[in-house]
Amino acid sequence: MTIEHIAIRPSHPDYDAARTTIGGSSEPAVVLRPTSADEVAASLRYAQAEGLPVAVRCGGHSPLGHSNLDGGVVIDLSRLDGVELLGDDRVRIGGGATWGPAAASLAEHGLAITSGDTTSVGVGGLTQAGGMGWMIRKHGLTIDSLLATEVVTAAGEIVRATPMQHADLFWAVRGGAGNFGVVTAFEFQAQRISTVHFGTISFALDDVAGLLTRWAEAMRAAPDELSTTMVLMPGFGDFPPGAVLYVCLAGDDTEVLQPLRAIGTVVAEEVGKRPYAEILEEAHPPEGILPVIGNTLVESVDTPLADAIATAYARGGRVVFLRSLGGAFGRVGPDQTAFAHRSAEALVVSAAFLTPDATEDEIASARAVWRTIGDQGIGAYAGFLGSDSPDDLASLWPEATLNRLRQVKRTWDPGNVFRRTFNIAP
Ligand SMILES: Cc1cc2nc3c(=O)[nH]c(=O)nc-3n(C[C@H](O)[C@H](O)[C@H](O)COP(=O)(O)OP(=O)(O)OC[C@H]3O[C@@H](n4cnc5c(N)ncnc54)[C@H](O)[C@@H]3O)c2cc1C
Repeated sequence: MTIEHIAIRPSHPDYDAARTTIGGSSEPAVVLRPTSADEVAASLRYAQAEGLPVAVRCGGHSPLGHSNLDGGVVIDLSRLDGVELLGDDRVRIGGGATWGPAAASLAEHGLAITSGDTTSVGVGGLTQAGGMGWMIRKHGLTIDSLLATEVVTAAGEIVRATPMQHADLFWAVRGGAGNFGVVTAFEFQAQRISTVHFGTISFALDDVAGLLTRWAEAMRAAPDELSTTMVLMPGFGDFPPGAVLYVCLAGDDTEVLQPLRAIGTVVAEEVGKRPYAEILEEAHPPEGILPVIGNTLVESVDTPLADAIATAYARGGRVVFLRSLGGAFGRVGPDQTAFAHRSAEALVVSAAFLTPDATEDEIASARAVWRTIGDQGIGAYAGFLGSDSPDDLASLWPEATLNRLRQVKRTWDPGNVFRRTFNIAP
């Protein structure tokens, strides 16, 4: 099969757009836009015949530019974006779909999958990282709703991986960050959910550390239906500094919000019933800044951690997000999927906002401040990692998980074709 009809080469009018993702622009030899698993297999054969490296792209939201590369072949899956109902609320979503359109299609049938918070994030990248969404405590990670995948392997075979069929591959795809093949379709168990109670409760910034520990305490007692994210915003542009709690209640008993109103001094509240698909929004990262990002999964938002966050935040120029975990997320065993950090009660993500011309010293100083928080966690989440040093890679998977992932890598990708990611060497 020739690939020219799906090829965008440097002379093509679409090349400039095709070589750009949110991670920046690269100069691939060619961007291929396959429309079927067979064309994905042909794309891989082409790269192999030409001796070119490969990057796989879905939503293009890797901040590290993992879905882009210079001088190689980008396999852009954006035309594999179908959403198909399979019966019994099971759905098949193409490996190049993005969550906004997918959620809108599901909503037409009264269905939803807990995914991310941003419409343009890809189903392919988010799902293989794990997938942390607004209903994580009720329905777990996105991978916890996954029933099967269709994968084009490094050998060019099209295989179906399920708990019964190629179970090793199915396990690895759920948290192994795209190391094992091109996933051309994901089959999920969707949930019968149309609306949620969603919005924000804003607090005074008088006692940041106390606010965080009281938030964590309230979330430990909260029902699974309630997932929340506390955001400590720096003053930025027109936005004043503030502590904003995003709440998503996948149920109708709004009384469960009451304990959250008691964790601090409420200065504003805006929570209402909304269609689930409409709470996914487009994110517009602030321009003209260099974000230095870190994340860590923590087993307890205790006083030492809360103090470290409050101190780092008080230095200014830093945003901190704390996502509540637990609930269904924590009831999956650490060895059931390749996402193993199931004992975490929260994910802390933080970015220091530096100017683009920041010096090495300023970057190092921002990283050192982050370490006072990051060193208190048990590991990191691939989805929000802003760097991929050996230490970052070591933080993604506990040793036993990593050894098992390596074994699967040796079976399915011994030549390390799929290395433009947080790479697990065979
Ligand atoms: C604005 C923003 C908001 C975000 N919000 C959330 C959130 O709410 N929850 C959350 O969990 N994460 C979130 N993330 C993180 C996000 O899940 C990761 O960045 C993810 O990798 C992006 O997936 P993508 O398909 O868009 O990216 P891409 O850049 O296309 O791909 C990322 C990686 O996955 C691989 N890959 C993608 N698709 C496939 C496929 N089908 N087969 C094989 N490999 C594939 C790529 O090769 C690459 O290595 C967010 C990121 C951003 C930038």
